Amino acid sequence: MKVWVEVRDDVAVLQIDNPPVNGLSHATRNGLRAGLQHALDNPRVAAIVITGTGTVFSGGADIKEFNTPAALAEPNLLQVIDAVEGSYKPVIAAINGVCMGGGLELALACHYRVATPNASMALPEVKLGLIPGAGGTQRLPRAVGADKALRMIASGAPIGADDALKSGLVERVVPNTTFQGVLDFAHEVADAMPLPKLRNKAVQLPAGIDAASFFAGARVQVGREARGLTAPLKCVDAVEAAVLKPFDEGLAFERQTFVELVQSRESKALRHAFFAEREAGKIPDVPEGTPTRPINTAAIIGCGTMGSGIAMSFANAGIPVTVMEMSQAALDKGLATCRAHWESTARKGRMSMEEVERRMALLRPTLNIEDLKDADLVIEAVFEDLAVKQDLFRRLDRVMKPGAILATNTSTLDVDAIAAVTRRPQDVLGTHFFSPANVMRLLEVVRARRTGKDVLASVMKLARRLKKVAVVSGVCDGFIGNRMLEQYIRQSLFLVDEGASPQKIDAALAKFGMAMGPFAMYDMAGMDIGYAIRQRRYAEKPHITYSRIGDRVVELGRLGQKTGKGWYRYEPGSRTPIPDPEIDALIDSYRKEIGIRPRAISDEEIVQRCVFALVNEGARILDEGIAQRASDIDVVYLAGYGFPAATGGPMFYAQTVGFDKVIKTMERFAGNGHADPAFWNPAPRLRRAAVEGHW
Ligand code: NAD
Repeated sequence: MKVWVEVRDDVAVLQIDNPPVNGLSHATRNGLRAGLQHALDNPRVAAIVITGTGTVFSGGADIKEFNTPAALAEPNLLQVIDAVEGSYKPVIAAINGVCMGGGLELALACHYRVATPNASMALPEVKLGLIPGAGGTQRLPRAVGADKALRMIASGAPIGADDALKSGLVERVVPNTTFQGVLDFAHEVADAMPLPKLRNKAVQLPAGIDAASFFAGARVQVGREARGLTAPLKCVDAVEAAVLKPFDEGLAFERQTFVELVQSRESKALRHAFFAEREAGKIPDVPEGTPTRPINTAAIIGCGTMGSGIAMSFANAGIPVTVMEMSQAALDKGLATCRAHWESTARKGRMSMEEVERRMALLRPTLNIEDLKDADLVIEAVFEDLAVKQDLFRRLDRVMKPGAILATNTSTLDVDAIAAVTRRPQDVLGTHFFSPANVMRLLEVVRARRTGKDVLASVMKLARRLKKVAVVSGVCDGFIGNRMLEQYIRQSLFLVDEGASPQKIDAALAKFGMAMGPFAMYDMAGMDIGYAIRQRRYAEKPHITYSRIGDRVVELGRLGQKTGKGWYRYEPGSRTPIPDPEIDALIDSYRKEIGIRPRAISDEEIVQRCVFALVNEGARILDEGIAQRASDIDVVYLAGYGFPAATGGPMFYAQTVGFDKVIKTMERFAGNGHADPAFWNPAPRLRRAAVEGHW
């Protein structure tokens, strides 16, 4: 049963029951229509309530039906909505929790809405590159005014019950402990005549502004926040139609825009990313239901850049965390970093000072490894040095309780070699957080050769509590993300050798949609780590070519923002990169030294060389089984490296460009007298994809 129908006094209650989120599947839509008809036919019924089971009204479209004929089967949502709005008995939406997308559009078609205090309402379609397609863009502005509706629709962000009451989206907030509040409301409106319908209301604009100026301003603001995405601006068009056109014409405009967007590359990419994130949580040989170990307490060793961010992530999730350092001074500094971050959040009004103290109280500082022994999970975030980490793991092996999970935050070291020094390699794995660890959503979970399945499942589950998106990586130098990045970096430096300036390369990749260009990124991250890695590479892999131009910059003492100079220069206290003639001169002399006459390089070539370098290394990573699937690599790049959302990630992008075209372009680069022709040998997996048409 997808919709329960029960008559209480003279009120028919239609309760949507389609776990987990009461999605509006074909069976649910059928159930709603049948339930409504049943209520209309029953002479005892004076009013009709639509609600959901548990704490969900409806999460909207049923994603199990995406891209299946059932999604379009009649009755479609528009038909159900028409039937609800057209009912001659009053229909009340009792919003008992999550109410999103199609769920909110259904509620907007009801004559009245009440909500419980825990309700959360949103039209999140924009996040999938769409606009609401079942009247949401036309009815919401009539309920809450153009300004509020536009902010909700163009951001997709939810609002709570109080906000909904204040803005007129719901008529009343009712207790969630008993259903009596809803029934009382239904009795009050049972005889109302005529029934209020949002379609008959006019849209309110903010006082003192005409429609033309309001929407001109909205386009500027939404355009700025959209970062190159088109759907947010289409939301503005649709709300404008709600203001300027009669209801039915507005509805037709919304429909037409929706249908166009469903076909757009941008929406396909965003939907790919949405499903890729869900898919990333699945591990073929660790099925759902694999037993997990409880993680109620954690410990972090090392409270530097990463350790402090990781500690904050745990405290933010309400998990107590013991923090260990080498000295009292380092401990004080680490904890001060956490406090400063939370206090700054509080100053911006996003957290109370009591909350700051509550989170600080979850951090338990210590200098003694014995104090960690009862933690369910310990994460090591000390210096990147195998001997130091192995020494620590030997000590952890001695002190930690049996069954504790032992994790390393290493970015490059061999997790198997770390696990091997313990007597419990099945309890060891890598948790590779990204900086700043309390902000970045990505977590690479490194599965070592002997990591236990229950350990892996436990950490994947923990990641969700920490609000991270976890991707499983096998053991290799750099794991998925940084291993690919190395090839991107190599290309960016070759491009400088051949004639492009850092600012030209940055501008081309920013135009492509990267959160920032590579050279601005090197300056932000600090260039000493990359320098050290390259020195190691020259010794390990002498047959591979590297540009030395980055080393020359570092050897001038220019390490990036932290020294006020890197590829750019920075005014004191500023993070704005300013091109520096000293760098131009350095590049000039380096080109002369290696005998290259600079040439003009197009933006297209810059983007293709950097992005296809990622794609080819991604394909190698698939060949070696380091990543489970191509879409996991997309998740890594979207959530951890600022890759443009509208492309769906590097691997999906290669597919939309066409694998054949990617290979042909790579072959052209290899034949261009390039410094490292072998660089462009297509990985076997890429060649196979070109034959099969998918990864
Ligand atoms: P960091 O130098 O900022 O912090 C390391 C901290 O560990 C220092 O505070 C130090 O006092 C402490 N420490 C060292 N040895 C210790 C020991 N035996 N016992 C207790 N404390 C000890 O370094 P970081 O940037 O935070 O990096 C930590 C780890 O995270 C490294 O393995 C690094 O490769 C990895 N990592 C770094 C980044 C990044 O962007 N910085 C990103 C991902 C992973």
